[in-house]
Amino acid sequence: MAAAMLDSLQAIFAADAVSVEAAECAVYAYDNSRREAIPDAVVFPTTHEQVVALVALCRGQGIALTARGRGTNTTGASVPVSGGIVASFERMQRILAIDVANRLAVVEPGVLNADLQIALKPHGFFWAPDPTSAPFCSIAGNIACNAGGPRAVKYGATRDNVLALRAVNGRGEEFRCGKPTSKGATGYDLTRLLIGSEGTLAIITEATLKLTPLASDKRTLRATYVDMAAAAAAVARIMAQPVTPCALEYMDDEALRLARNHAGESIPVAGAMLIIEVDGETDALPSAVAAISQAASGPGLIELHAANDAGEVARLWAARKALSPALRTLAPNKINEDVVVPVSCVPDLIAGLKRISAKHGIPIVTFGHAGNGNIHVNLLYRPEDPQQARNAPACLSDVFDLVFTMDGTLSGEHGIGLAKREFMPRAIDPVSLELMRRIKTQFDPEGILNPGKLLPD
Ligand SMILES: Cc1cc2nc3c(=O)[nH]c(=O)nc-3n(C[C@H](O)[C@H](O)[C@H](O)COP(=O)(O)OP(=O)(O)OC[C@H]3O[C@@H](n4cnc5c(N)ncnc54)[C@H](O)[C@@H]3O)c2cc1C
Repeated sequence: MAAAMLDSLQAIFAADAVSVEAAECAVYAYDNSRREAIPDAVVFPTTHEQVVALVALCRGQGIALTARGRGTNTTGASVPVSGGIVASFERMQRILAIDVANRLAVVEPGVLNADLQIALKPHGFFWAPDPTSAPFCSIAGNIACNAGGPRAVKYGATRDNVLALRAVNGRGEEFRCGKPTSKGATGYDLTRLLIGSEGTLAIITEATLKLTPLASDKRTLRATYVDMAAAAAAVARIMAQPVTPCALEYMDDEALRLARNHAGESIPVAGAMLIIEVDGETDALPSAVAAISQAASGPGLIELHAANDAGEVARLWAARKALSPALRTLAPNKINEDVVVPVSCVPDLIAGLKRISAKHGIPIVTFGHAGNGNIHVNLLYRPEDPQQARNAPACLSDVFDLVFTMDGTLSGEHGIGLAKREFMPRAIDPVSLELMRRIKTQFDPEGILNPGKLLPD
C-alpha cells in the first residue's frame, strides 16, 4: 500500500485500528467458502463517521472496499478479490437500544446474532433470523446475506425483520432508510433493497430490527420415514394445512448417519427424518400437535415421536446443527448449495436430485429448511478422482436446471457472492439483471464496494 494512502487511513483511524501487516491481512483474506485473496490493509471502524471518511477516501483513490462481519458466509462474499481494504466491523458491537413498546432493537453492525438473542430474552422477545452460525455471525452479515434459519418458516428471514438502516453508499453519501415503525408506505423500499446486497451497494453502520414476542411454549416432534420421497411428501402435506410449524427441518439418510455419529443412539436409523416444532400458548399446543401429526402421518412413516424433555430436544438440534461442518469430514471440497423451490415441489426436487446423483456418479447429501422449500444440496466429490472432478460442474449445472424448471431459485439464505454469480443469468431474466446493474451504478458508480461479487461480469 502506498505510504500516502496509509497516512490517510491513519488520519481516520486510531493506530491500533489500521493494519498492513501481512500476518494480520491474511486473517481477513478468507471466509467459510475457503476462497482466499489477501487485502492490502484491514481497518476496524468504531464509528459511523469513520466509515463515511473511509468510503470517501476509497472512492477518491479508486480503491476496493470490502465490508466484513465474521467471515462465516459460504459463497466468498467477504473475500477481497480485488485487494484493497477490508473493513472489519468486529469493534462495532454495541446494542444501542431495546425498545419493547415499539418492538424494536437498534444495533451496531458487528453485534453477534446470538448476543442479541441473549440480550432480548429477559424482555420476552427475539429477533427472528436464527442461522446455525448465530454464535459466530454478525447482524450486518445477516442483513447483507438475507440470512435465515429454521424459524424462517414461521417468522420470516432477515428481509422480513428489519425496519430501518443507516448506511454509506459507494459515493461516500450517508443516508437512513426505513423508519422505526411497523408500517410504512413512503416510496421505494431501500431497506429491503440493501438486505441481501452483500455489501455491494452500501456499508451498513446501524440497524433497527423488528422484534417478535417469544412464544410461551413449544413442542418438538421427530418423524422418521422409509425414504426421502416419503419425508418430502410429508413436508408438502404439513405445509398444506393451517398450523404453521416454527421449524420444519429435513435430513436424508446420509445426513442422518452423520447426525448419529454426532449424537449417537438418540438419532434413529431411517431413510429420512423431519424435525418439526410448533410454538404458541400452552393450551393451544395439543390441537396444533394433533394437526401436524396427522399431516406428518402417511405412506412411508416409520415413527412419529414427541420429545420427552429439554435434553432430548437439545440433542436433536445439536445433531442437526453439526451437519454442515460434519460434511467436511466426508468431502473437504463439498459443493454446498442452498436452493429453494416452491414447497409443493420438494418431493420432485428430492427425486430429481437422486437421478442427477446417479447420472454423474457424485454422492449428493441433502438436509435443510424443508418448510421453506430451502434444501441444502451438498455435492460430495473427491478432486483426486478425475472422473468425479470432471463431472462435478455438470452435476451442479443439472441441479440448478432442475431447480429452475420448478420456478425455484439459486439461494434461499446463503447469497451469491463469488460462488454463484456465473449462474445469475440463468436465475434472473435479462431485464431484471440489467436493472440490478443500473441500481449498482447509482449506489456505487466507481464499483469500489465489494467488487466482483453478486452480479456476473
Ligand atoms: C456452520 C455454519 C452454519 C451456517 N448456517 C446458516 C444458516 O442456518 N442460515 C444462514 O442464512 N446462513 C448460515 N450460514 C452462513 C453465514 O453464517 C451467514 O451468511 C451470515 O449471515 C454471515 O455473517 P458474517 O458476520 O459472518 O458475515 P461475513 O461472512 O463477514 O460477510 C457476509 C456478507 O456481508 C457483507 N457485510 C458484512 N458487514 C457488512 C456491513 N457492515 N455493511 C455491508 N455489508 C456487510 C460482506 O461484505 C459479505 O458480503 C452458516 C455458516 C456456517 C459457517
